[in-house]
Amino acid sequence: MDVAIIGGGIAGLSLALNLHRHGIACRVYERAPEIKELGVGITLLPHAMREFAALGLDKELFGAGIEILESCFFNRFGQLIYKESRGTYSGYQYPEVSIHRGRLHMILYTAARERLGHDRILTDHDCTGVAQDEDGVTIAFKEFSSGKAREPGRASVAIGCDGINSVVRKQFYPEDRVAFAGINTWRGVTRRKPILTGRSYLRIGSILTGKIVVYPIVDDIDRDGNQLINWMAEIKRDTFDQNDWNKPGNVNEFLPIYQDYRFAWLDVAELIRNADQILEYPMVDKDPVDRWTFGRVTLAGDAAHPMYPRGSNGAGQAIIDARFLTGQIKKLGATEAALQQYEAVRNPATAKVVLTNRTDPPDAILREVWQRSGGQRFGRIEDVISRTELEAISERYKKVAGFDRDSLKARPSFV
Ligand SMILES: Cc1cc2nc3c(=O)[nH]c(=O)nc-3n(C[C@H](O)[C@H](O)[C@H](O)COP(=O)(O)OP(=O)(O)OC[C@H]3O[C@@H](n4cnc5c(N)ncnc54)[C@H](O)[C@@H]3O)c2cc1C
Repeated sequence: MDVAIIGGGIAGLSLALNLHRHGIACRVYERAPEIKELGVGITLLPHAMREFAALGLDKELFGAGIEILESCFFNRFGQLIYKESRGTYSGYQYPEVSIHRGRLHMILYTAARERLGHDRILTDHDCTGVAQDEDGVTIAFKEFSSGKAREPGRASVAIGCDGINSVVRKQFYPEDRVAFAGINTWRGVTRRKPILTGRSYLRIGSILTGKIVVYPIVDDIDRDGNQLINWMAEIKRDTFDQNDWNKPGNVNEFLPIYQDYRFAWLDVAELIRNADQILEYPMVDKDPVDRWTFGRVTLAGDAAHPMYPRGSNGAGQAIIDARFLTGQIKKLGATEAALQQYEAVRNPATAKVVLTNRTDPPDAILREVWQRSGGQRFGRIEDVISRTELEAISERYKKVAGFDRDSLKARPSFV
């Protein structure tokens, strides 16, 4: 086998699909005994959709999700701060699509099994470590379901796509741990009638006093015109108490903040109260590291660059890693040199996104207006901040994350 892929999430499966498309033999080893449609919403920006189009999966994803028409920013009083068209509505070649994360994962998993064959996508393989010699990498596994040892895997190179708690990364960075800066979040999905255009991505409130992101992920969920609306509440407090991961959330811990977020077009507290299920988790990332490649082993996706989910970029950057790495392996073979070339370009590019997501994500627009207006209602937004300045904040983020329209159009294919 040329390439062993450790982890069958969005990064691992995208990498497998790309390698296979270019005739490079690979195998995916996934810890979970079976793949289930877990999670809530995710948004795929045009740079991610471009890479899915290259795999021939864009139409299926488009059909399973919702094309986002506009991105809107409101203060806690429901006053519109800024609105811009998105995806094809603003001249991109590719759409912006919001989708159930579990659907996306299942589409990738099904495509990978169909294209590569079932024996190339192995579940219940929990990687416990990697060892290298002159000829290749040996990967140790146990069965996740029973804890029993498994046959080791062998390949020329191994890619750790095993997510934010990566075992592969931990082997090279034993002290590795997530960074928490006092921001806790709660996520949920609610069935209700479409909000505004029914294709609007909304950010409401302020990072400083309580923000909520709201967008639809499934149309006509019940044949009664209701959509499945994804939302994520984000609150910063002076606390070291981290929320648990994916545990049912206690609505009383955060609902009071949104009690008076009641507008003609949305009652935020009602949206939260009517959720099918609420999950909590802490907002965490990791400080960027200079090195991902250690001989024949490298990292990709969240294992390499976990980031705050603030600019719809974690999965997008993972897919770009997969494409870029495929391009290097195609050019240089499944070799250390290919992994080094990949790191040389993708490491600094993603480090910028990680750091910008901490300090100046698109939501910086909300913080800026909150500060300038003293957290109060404004008369005219133009008296608080100019449209040019708002556009500049939005464009700056697009450039950092690699999806500003002109650069995306001009950029040659990674493979
Ligand atoms: C609330 C939230 C909202 C988000 N919204 C967006 C968004 O709108 N747009 C966007 O682009 N991104 C978004 N992201 C980020 C995105 O979900 C991640 O960046 C993306 O899932 C990373 O993919 P990955 O494959 O690297 O990691 P994961 O999806 O975590 O997959 C890792 C895989 O490795 C497996 N694994 C773990 N350990 C082992 C092991 N030892 N052996 C074998 N397998 C193992 C796991 O079971 C899993 O299947 C969001 C994240 C969160 C938390």
